[in-house]
Amino acid sequence: MAGISLRGLSKSFSSRDSDVAAVADVDIEIKDNSFVTLLGPSGCGKTTTLRLIAGYITPDRGTIEINGKLLSSPDSVVPPEARGMGMVFQNYAIWPHKNVFENVVFGLKIRKVPAAEARRKVEEALALVNLSGLETRYPGELSGGQQQRVALARSLVVEPDILLLDEPLSNLDAKLRERMRSELKELQRRTGITFVYVTHDQAEALALSDQIAVMNLGRVQQYGTPFEVYAHPANRMVADFMGLVNLVPGTVRARAGAGGEVEIAPEFVVRVDALGAFAVGDAVDVAIRPENIRLDAPGAPDGARAEISNHIFLGNLSEYYAKLPSGLTLRVQTHPLQRFAVGAPCKIAVDASLCSVFRAGGDALKAA
Ligand code: ADP
Ligand code: MG
Repeated sequence: MAGISLRGLSKSFSSRDSDVAAVADVDIEIKDNSFVTLLGPSGCGKTTTLRLIAGYITPDRGTIEINGKLLSSPDSVVPPEARGMGMVFQNYAIWPHKNVFENVVFGLKIRKVPAAEARRKVEEALALVNLSGLETRYPGELSGGQQQRVALARSLVVEPDILLLDEPLSNLDAKLRERMRSELKELQRRTGITFVYVTHDQAEALALSDQIAVMNLGRVQQYGTPFEVYAHPANRMVADFMGLVNLVPGTVRARAGAGGEVEIAPEFVVRVDALGAFAVGDAVDVAIRPENIRLDAPGAPDGARAEISNHIFLGNLSEYYAKLPSGLTLRVQTHPLQRFAVGAPCKIAVDASLCSVFRAGGDALKAA
């Protein structure tokens, strides 16, 4: 069983003309028997972090400990094969000229596990990933999803304490990806192996993870549960990356306890539960998710007057664009049974506990 501590982890790469800080001051604690995802846009340092954890590269600064034992520092790195970790890649990396059994048994042969025991372990690993009976097939005779399961079985067969997965589902089509998603989650629960998973797909991260580390430009922007990073983003980058969001400028009009009121337009003042250190008069940006805006009939007692300027029917939900008299337009998502005509008047209201407030137009910083 294995918990992982990354402390001040940093790694730069130099090329002819520049230095890239691929990973910068990454501090995260990964609990034993948990599913943790590194999430962020392409180039944000996810793979580099994973390769540091695996021991393929040496950090410039910082340390990696597993269960309190130092495995990586700028001075020494315990090699990958001595770390008790398995790794699964996007492109499967299985051998085309070996059949399923030969692919999966490989790690046991290297470890000189006796043949009968190796056969039993391969069978167990194949059963775990629902591939029993396909031992003699070659990769060319398997679907993409089955090939990815072979790669998983090959990593699981050596009974690692930690499994590192680098965008393992991105070569699969959407339906299969969703099915493999729930299988992976189930696999983690059943085995108790600590999973460190890399993806650029926020829906995948939300569905799978106990904790998500949202990364950008080599840094961890926020480390929290799926609910925390979605509902209470630490900064604008996280708010924007985790899903659809209206980021609208406003001014703090009143303070009361931890929260207060922000004026977004003369006729649209939203109450906000968490206003941090912002004071009356401060310019801010308010992040409001489309599903947290309520659309009501124009005669409703509360809310601000608006007009429906566009409607997109998406099957499981409806998307409306609600235009305030000031011209500001907000994207709203509602149940598809709630229907408004384009051009119709309406009222909009926002839940105070579901708004996040950031410094206006600014960098990444949120009210602390
Ligand atoms: P991600 O997996 O999030 O897409 P990576 O960790 O692969 O990002 O890369 C982070 C940054 O480091 C990128 O700017 C990438 O170009 C750079 N980088 C990664 N590996 C190397 C390398 N071996 N040599 C030079 N630059 C690299
Ligand atoms: Mg990558």
